[in-house]
Amino acid sequence: TTTPPPSNEPTLEYAPGSPERRSIQQKLRELRQQEIEIPAYINGQAVKTGTTTRVAPPHDHQHTLGHVHQSGAQEVEQAIDAAMSAKKEWAAMDFSDRAAIFLRMADLIAGRYRDTLNAATMLGQSKNAYQAEIDAACELIDFLRFNVHYAEQIYRDQPNNAAGMWNQMQYRPLEGFVFAVTPFNFTAIQGNLPTAPAILGNTVLWKPATRSIYSAYFLNEIFEEAGLPPGVINMLPADDGAKVGTPALESEHFAGLHFTGSMQTFDHLWQTIGENLKTYKTYPTIVGETGGKDFIVAHETANPKQIATAIVRGSFEYQGQKCSAASRLYLPESLWPEIEEAMTSQLDEITVGPPEDFTNFVNAVIDERAFDEITGYIEDAREDESAEIIYGGTYDKSEGYFIDPTVIKVTDPKQRTMQEEIFGPVTTVYVYADEDFEDVLELVDETSPYALTGSIFAKDRSVVKKALDRLEQSAGNFYINDKPTGSIVGQQPFGGARKSGTNDKAGSPLNLLRWVSPRSVKETF
Ligand code: GLU
Repeated sequence: TTTPPPSNEPTLEYAPGSPERRSIQQKLRELRQQEIEIPAYINGQAVKTGTTTRVAPPHDHQHTLGHVHQSGAQEVEQAIDAAMSAKKEWAAMDFSDRAAIFLRMADLIAGRYRDTLNAATMLGQSKNAYQAEIDAACELIDFLRFNVHYAEQIYRDQPNNAAGMWNQMQYRPLEGFVFAVTPFNFTAIQGNLPTAPAILGNTVLWKPATRSIYSAYFLNEIFEEAGLPPGVINMLPADDGAKVGTPALESEHFAGLHFTGSMQTFDHLWQTIGENLKTYKTYPTIVGETGGKDFIVAHETANPKQIATAIVRGSFEYQGQKCSAASRLYLPESLWPEIEEAMTSQLDEITVGPPEDFTNFVNAVIDERAFDEITGYIEDAREDESAEIIYGGTYDKSEGYFIDPTVIKVTDPKQRTMQEEIFGPVTTVYVYADEDFEDVLELVDETSPYALTGSIFAKDRSVVKKALDRLEQSAGNFYINDKPTGSIVGQQPFGGARKSGTNDKAGSPLNLLRWVSPRSVKETF
């Protein structure tokens, strides 16, 4: 088999008057006019449990998009049976036949379902059209196509032979099912976590975040339409994740966890796995990406305007709800006035509101709990003498969970907002004396337990080198003179170590290698 060499899906612009703008506007209207029922999906069948909760757009919380059926232990048991019985045939299928299903999925998303999945992401997760396009369309399409290609590379990699023998590696899937737990913030990750193991012949229990269940529902429809056989990916929504997580992790057939979400949840799942270790047939594979407290550190030789743009885009795109979002900024005193001016004038241009108005750069945060947590940090900073809110700080949840882009300036570089992941449109600046650059690198490394992304801005090459060396362990994705967000599949494999996760680089062969359990076969002639 030779699968097509992948290239990155080009992004549509959604410019005013463009055909793609008109067509997605039409889709947004259509989706708003209907209320859908979102079942669990087990063994190719919709399962309605009867216990439902309401699904609403974060920017218009009184509107109802649909209702989602809640799964529990009984559905988990059915899904495990389905996954285990689908597995034999799925794993035995020719790779080219499996590959064709995922390539078809990618094409369906690139073509017929692009509007649906983007519009669902805009409505259900409150993303603007451009943020939806780079996520639910381009990144997801890339994950599917590149992962097929990487899987093929894995299968092709075979050991050496000597005279009189034939050595082979058989890349078996894991023995058991994979449990995929997906976050609300990226439809692409929601699609990648169950499909990446499935490409290699695994079958999956998938627990999507119910905060993004609206796009998950359409994604599941696309999986089915692409021809994924029943039982390969089983979707189990639950507002209370433990209702699905606990029984899934108590099964003897549990063989792998593919997770993106908070550090607290990942720690909890890992501990639960530890407690159940004796139950399992095999040591499970654990792959997880958690949070970040991502930095921008600038040197006095850097370009202030470039830094300002990186701050605005890195901190506030998708309301800062990216694990990669810039949220602690270390800026030299000599450049600060120019950075502040450029940043402020860019922020003054930004409007906050629903994504259906395409001029809004910032939309709503995901739900009330997130809104309350984020605004709690803002209010704490307001009370704190070592912190000052220098931009924004205002919010309103009457119609949608809107928080204005907020910049906090601190005199204490270990102030709470420099250390904790806020996951909202809040970023914190610490201005340092130019000559303290090296001490600042120490601070960057020591201030947070996370190590996901970070940026250095400098023109002086020796400074760039110094930062790369001193911050060797501080970020899994390191950017030189660029914002720390927006990794592209096949270009910047994504993931961090320390408390940011297992660093198995989503969108790379390293990730796919975690979903096989190779058998080495030597035959003597
Ligand atoms: N890969 C995304 C980026 O580089 C972030 C993914 C995440 O938030 O988990 O912006």
